[in-house]
Amino acid sequence: MNRRDHTLESSSPERVTTFPFTAIVAQDEMRQALLIAAVDPSVGGVLVFGDRGTGKSTAIRALAGLLPRMRAVVGCPYACDPAAPAEACPHCAGKLERKSALVPVPVVDLPLGATEDRVVGALDLQRALALGEKAFEPGLLARANRGFLYIDEVNLLEDHLVDLLLDVAASGVNTVEREGLSIRHPARFVLVGSGNPEEGELRPQLLDRFGLAVEVATPTDIATRIDVVRRRDAYERDPAAFCATYSKAERAQAKQITLARERLPAVTIPDAVLEACARLCLALGTDGLRGELTLMRTARALAALDGTHDVTIDHVRRIAPAALRHRLRRNPLDEAGSTARVARAVAEVLA
Ligand SMILES: [Zn+2]
Repeated sequence: MNRRDHTLESSSPERVTTFPFTAIVAQDEMRQALLIAAVDPSVGGVLVFGDRGTGKSTAIRALAGLLPRMRAVVGCPYACDPAAPAEACPHCAGKLERKSALVPVPVVDLPLGATEDRVVGALDLQRALALGEKAFEPGLLARANRGFLYIDEVNLLEDHLVDLLLDVAASGVNTVEREGLSIRHPARFVLVGSGNPEEGELRPQLLDRFGLAVEVATPTDIATRIDVVRRRDAYERDPAAFCATYSKAERAQAKQITLARERLPAVTIPDAVLEACARLCLALGTDGLRGELTLMRTARALAALDGTHDVTIDHVRRIAPAALRHRLRRNPLDEAGSTARVARAVAEVLA
């Protein structure tokens, strides 16, 4: 994307009125996790635990608003990148000439009551009845391609939808075989789930698939609460004026993401840091190697955001709770919460 595209996109009208990412008070861990997912989507999504009304959905929309618009093939329901159309795209496959346009990075909500048809797509009944054609009507997974899929109260989602999402999230391809249809289309997205653990446990398989898990809570100190309320009120009274006061901070934040993405491939991880990751995961008894892999990738994205080319133990220390707290085996003899257990292991192993 050239410079001019960038300027145009940041001054487009709908951007101006999204609550700014940089105006979110506190919730540092959530913001950090979302930034990491934006820099390296391969870290595997973000799970946000916590109270209602802590601005989870606002934060995701705000983050998407910061990302540079993406170039997409006009008319492609999966918004393929014209420079690298997905192999599995039924729309773009075989087409030599593709018109493209700049579009915002999608943020798609998956509501709890959604049917499987609505999620994966289904036979377009109207066309089937009117024209006798077997056409595919793309679903929410199609719209989320190259963007974010947000599920509020993911812990209450039906098991068969969870399984389906996990498969698609892992492969980046949605396969629909039913009603005589056989379709494969690209569906690569960052999964962001939120939930309140008191209202239903998340299955370990699901937990393990999220790269990062963060906790958000309604702030308890008076000054922060006042700040939250004051900013929300100012925003609602005059969104344009409120956003204008944050435009400089937003530009700086957007630039940080762009630079981090560019820097990421060159960021290196010294052996000593990898060894520290391994020792930490061993000490915590996390299952398999996914914990270590995530710890490594997220520490690398964090280093890229910091503007350095080397991952340090400090990056691991900062990201360890979010990368590991949801991968601990239950220990009936250890009453401490998972966050406290990670903190203790970090203090012992990475001293
Ligand atoms: Zn396409």
